[in-house]
Amino acid sequence: MDGHTCQAEGCPLTAEGISCWFTCLMANKEEKWNENISGRFYVDRQCIDCDLCRETAPRFFTRYEEGGYSFVHKQPTTEEEAQLCIEAIEGCPVEAIGKDGEE
Ligand code: SF4
Repeated sequence: MDGHTCQAEGCPLTAEGISCWFTCLMANKEEKWNENISGRFYVDRQCIDCDLCRETAPRFFTRYEEGGYSFVHKQPTTEEEAQLCIEAIEGCPVEAIGKDGEE
């Protein structure tokens, strides 16, 4: 069986052009929720509504009550703000937060 070569940003296999057989857990901008405000950061459909990003960076992440998931409601504008969003990425247990959305 052949693996596939995905385009996941930051994946060491992608960087080496190596194919794999796993379902990638990295956030995927093609799967992001429509509620995300456009920009670099987003939450995708893997979100399990654990609340961590909203606790870490409430100015940027909020809950879509009807759907039971998080989304980015404001994009950071300074390096300090971006760092908070990166902290949220690092804390997300299912890697549902991406930073490769449109600039
Ligand atoms: S930390 Fe990840 S799983 Fe938890 S609410 Fe935020 S995006 Fe969803």
